[in-house]
Amino acid sequence: MAGILAAIQLREHGHTDVTVFEKGDRVGGTWRENTYPGLACDVPSQLYSYSFAPNPDWSHPYSPGSQIQEYFERVAVERGVIERTRFSDEVVRCEWNDERWEVETAAGHRESFDVVIAATGVLHHPRYPDIAGLASFAGACFHSARGDHAVPIDDARVGVIGTGSTGVQIVSAIRDRVRELHVFQRTAQWVLPMPNDPFGPEQLDRHRDLDYLRATHDRLSELFGKFSNAVIDASSPESEMIAAACLDNLERNVVDPDLRERLRPTYRAACKRLIASPDFYEAMQASATRLVTADIERVEPSGVRTDDGVLHELDVLVLATGFHADWFVRPMEVVGRDGLTIDAFWTPRPLAYLSIGVPGFPNFFMINGPNGPVGNFSLIEVAEYQFAYIAQLVERLANGARAIEPDLDFTESFEAERVAASRNSVWVTGCRSWYLDDRGVPATWPWPFDRFQAEMATPNWDAYKIDGSRDFAF
Ligand code: NAP
Repeated sequence: MAGILAAIQLREHGHTDVTVFEKGDRVGGTWRENTYPGLACDVPSQLYSYSFAPNPDWSHPYSPGSQIQEYFERVAVERGVIERTRFSDEVVRCEWNDERWEVETAAGHRESFDVVIAATGVLHHPRYPDIAGLASFAGACFHSARGDHAVPIDDARVGVIGTGSTGVQIVSAIRDRVRELHVFQRTAQWVLPMPNDPFGPEQLDRHRDLDYLRATHDRLSELFGKFSNAVIDASSPESEMIAAACLDNLERNVVDPDLRERLRPTYRAACKRLIASPDFYEAMQASATRLVTADIERVEPSGVRTDDGVLHELDVLVLATGFHADWFVRPMEVVGRDGLTIDAFWTPRPLAYLSIGVPGFPNFFMINGPNGPVGNFSLIEVAEYQFAYIAQLVERLANGARAIEPDLDFTESFEAERVAASRNSVWVTGCRSWYLDDRGVPATWPWPFDRFQAEMATPNWDAYKIDGSRDFAF
């Protein structure tokens, strides 16, 4: 999503010598790699679209993943990204040689560039759970982002470990297909109701009007911004309303009082990423579904043994257990000034100025980099703002600067301010989540969205070290 965006927008800004490196054999990122049943985006489709490429064809307010993948492929074709992309050519190393970046791929291709934009995603590297005996399971076992469609699930006994956004979507999608569905829930979730009836013919007709679509995008952007701000600020009245809507969903839609209590979260709403689902509770009450809340003790060849001694016999085990959210550009080896590697600089944890630049790594800019707005924000919108900012750095380079990197002191004081602000956020109110770093500090943007928009509008040039001029070839 972010790489396609960057390639299109660089050209719009007059930079024609652009190469896109893609390790896969087609574009799509998250939407290429995740193909699990029920895959969808819980950000409204009209907002989860590039602002410059509105899509009248979304079938639902929250459209399925396959449509999102088709959308990105179509935009990439229409906007000339494909012909500038080297597919199946994974970048393994980028090294700054004091002038330019030397980029090397696994296939042995080497090329140098003035600027590298890393659009390598956030939730990308599967996190496999550390459960004893996992490898001994005799049936099919895979991570949600490595779905194996050759494995039959119809009429099978399926276990799903994890009830994050992914697990919830899978459970809802397969509950009527399987013989038994064992849902291993370690922590109950706050679940917002999310009605998602398909658009009718009249609505689809209105979407043909591009002005209407653009106005819808802007309206949703404003609404979603308010929603995301409310999510962050646990003391806001809107945050109370979100919690009330989730509780109402639970009370009204889960009939059995015992099941209701086991599905009831016991921490603050939105401490973990909020789940939005039209039918998770319905799926949890389907005849095939069994909610398992006992702790997993180990996996055995025939199933999952919980600490109450019960063996849950399974044919298929799905690990919806999330991602290593702190890897970012790694395992790519990035070597900046004086041999400094990004891995070393990011030990024990990633640091970036405004999530875009890293001190010691000139002309290296990230989209959706460390500590930026994630969670309930629209990542596509975030990426557009970040690219608009990066474009100004690149412009400065095109106009004679040789190298631009954030100043270390500036970056550290920005980080100190971010960490201090995150102490007031909902994410530290006592839950486990992928937002929290090794110190328990949320690795995300802790301020309202309008501050992010304002920061992205114009770089504060005082925060940058800018080396003198040279001829610049784009
Ligand atoms: P996740 O939110 O990190 O959830 C992982 C789940 O696995 C949690 O329920 C966790 O339990 C459980 N788990 C992990 N290790 C376990 C273990 N050893 N034993 C038992 N349970 C274990 O991952 P995700 O669901 O893949 O979602 C990641 C993010 O992707 C989301 O937060 C969201 O930002 C994004 N996403 C978005 C959409 C969308 O529609 N926009 C859809 C899917 C994903 P605990 O809660 O107890 O830790």
